[in-house]
Amino acid sequence: MDLEQRKQGFFDTKLETLSPQKREDHLSKKLLDFVQYAYKHSRGFKEALDKKGIAPADIRGLHDLEKIPLIRKDDLVARQKEEVPFGGFETAPPSKARRIYISPGLVFQPAIGEHEIKSWAEALYGCGMRTGDIVQNTFNYHLWPFAFTLDESLQQLGITGVPAGIGNALMQIKVMQTLAVTGFIGTPSFLMTLAERAEAMGLDLQKDLKLEVGFCSAEMLPEGLRERLEEKFGMIVRQGYGTVFTGCLGYECYYKNGLHLPQDILVEIVDPQTGKPVEPGTTGEVVATNFNPLFPMIRFATGDLSSLIQEACPCGRTSYRLKKILGRLDQATKVKGTFIHPWQTDEIAAQFPEIFKYQVVVTRKNHTDVMTFVAEVKDETVDKKLLKGRLERAIKDMLTVKGEVEVVPPGSIPDWHQKIVDHREWE
Ligand SMILES: [Zn+2]
Repeated sequence: MDLEQRKQGFFDTKLETLSPQKREDHLSKKLLDFVQYAYKHSRGFKEALDKKGIAPADIRGLHDLEKIPLIRKDDLVARQKEEVPFGGFETAPPSKARRIYISPGLVFQPAIGEHEIKSWAEALYGCGMRTGDIVQNTFNYHLWPFAFTLDESLQQLGITGVPAGIGNALMQIKVMQTLAVTGFIGTPSFLMTLAERAEAMGLDLQKDLKLEVGFCSAEMLPEGLRERLEEKFGMIVRQGYGTVFTGCLGYECYYKNGLHLPQDILVEIVDPQTGKPVEPGTTGEVVATNFNPLFPMIRFATGDLSSLIQEACPCGRTSYRLKKILGRLDQATKVKGTFIHPWQTDEIAAQFPEIFKYQVVVTRKNHTDVMTFVAEVKDETVDKKLLKGRLERAIKDMLTVKGEVEVVPPGSIPDWHQKIVDHREWE
């Protein structure tokens, strides 16, 4: 398919090109109706409002959203233990659900027909998937909602899906080759595994395979990894972000300058302590309201950190965008009394194109924290001494904590998904 076709167009032209004011009016009306509905039908939501002394009539527009208490996953899980299986948030008995999904920790979720939820279909379209594609979906189809939801989203777009599921790389490569698969859905690390295996089989990734577009999710997608995947396969790789309970909360278009908010969802960036929205551009917690009539999640706090971009995007979509996911609230590590977040160390690494991977290792020496930034270079020709000095200064500037720097050759960091490793032992 011509790349121009993948760059252009909208899943829902009317909604995706609304002016900011019209979008606010649209979402505001949707919210008021939904709060009334959820209060009437979802006991979990009603009790949360009653406890705060808030009536549905107190919510008159988007600006009143902050009055509604946040739902955290821990609260949801605790409520589900008391009131099986859904914690009272559901609006109908379990037998009315089309499916019941189960997440780790035995967390239950009733699902309506996914065709009623359009956010992932919008995301797949946004990343460039089109009718005529054959897309191999390598997410896990067991228990979890994600693979099924994406599968049904492909159907909404009139795209052929191959429900491959996770694992079995050799079989997956043979399927891709035999069916001339043009699209990939899965984690970036699995796509890299497929590349390495296919190369080991002696295949030419661009001639023997026909991949043109990839939609990655469920993991961070560092720019260095994206570039390598795009180069190896000769394909475009874009990403989407969301949670099990809320659905899609953001996706990249061709221009990959942030994650567009889907139309079916209300996303806020808030101060995790107060639950109040932060100024645009400021980092805060991602909070989402999903308009799901069977399992309403109103102000679900994701624990993920991001910030909002309000400027227009060249693709023509007028939605605001999440800058990127900067990490998790609970992933911060305290070093010499200062919290270090993976999003901060990511930002440092992003300033140095010569770094392919990195890992921050925290140890103790003579009762003092030692933070070592281990940087793996893309190739051996880099001036290591110069890089070390520049990195040390960047660490001090960004983290306000002094760090050691160790520059290592390609292939030295095996488990680099864990950005910060804490090796401190406390007696
Ligand atoms: Zn865009």
